[in-house]
Amino acid sequence: MTDASVPSDPHATPAAASPEAIGHNLDSVRGRIAAACRRVGRDPGEVRLLPVSKTVSEERIRMAYAAGCRYLGENKVQEALRKHDALPELDDLKWSIIGHLQTNKAKHVARFASEFQALDSLRVAEALDRRLEAEGRTLDVFVQVNSSGEASKFGLAPADVPDFVRELPNYPRLRVLGLMTLALFSSDTERVRACFVRMRELRERLRDAAVGGVSVEGLSMGMSGDYEVAIEEGATVVRVGQSIFGARSLPDSYYWPADDPRT
Ligand SMILES: *Cc1c(COP(=O)(O)O)cnc(C)c1O
Repeated sequence: MTDASVPSDPHATPAAASPEAIGHNLDSVRGRIAAACRRVGRDPGEVRLLPVSKTVSEERIRMAYAAGCRYLGENKVQEALRKHDALPELDDLKWSIIGHLQTNKAKHVARFASEFQALDSLRVAEALDRRLEAEGRTLDVFVQVNSSGEASKFGLAPADVPDFVRELPNYPRLRVLGLMTLALFSSDTERVRACFVRMRELRERLRDAAVGGVSVEGLSMGMSGDYEVAIEEGATVVRVGQSIFGARSLPDSYYWPADDPRT
């Protein structure tokens, strides 16, 4: 148990290669989530931990399943689909796509994913809705917001979010749960925190405007390096990979736009 307000270094987490090791890391992240909640008087039950399994092999995903994971986040649709199709025996394992989606890949997401966290265009909303209808499915979605103002980041500018959310009732197969963001990648915690505060304030504004009857109460924000700060500012979903599975060997530039300042 820790009450350190400085997050652990995700790049220092060794690869977890047994159900016990993954379970140990899950417990440690849950402990930190609970401690962050206590610091600000929140109920840990309000925060969902979404383990992120990008680059993690099918073999280690089976171990995560044995350790109790029933929901996994993946940044790339092709990688998620390959794993989904390779693990038919884990039929109650749900997949959340947390990375940018091209319209032509919407059909894959509609087929197998339970959640999509990076919605930032109406073209994608339209393509998903149409495909979901054909599949007889629905999809939980978060609207991705660019809270850092970096040109390289995907997501809507905060000022564009209210009008965007107002259009979403036109896509009845999408169940809108909230807003998602990647904060600034920086070791300056207060600049990172400012991104999360911006998200919380944006949610308040949407609430006041009761935009189109759509509820955007959820805030998916925080990853291995910054989830505790995100929780202090109101995160309801944290997306944590490296602190559960171990440091990734693939550079982050494989998953984020190339001019990401951290890469
Ligand atoms: C990889 C990823 C995460 C998790 O990052 P970690 O450093 O592994 O915790 C969170 N969100 C998105 C969108 C990601 O692609």
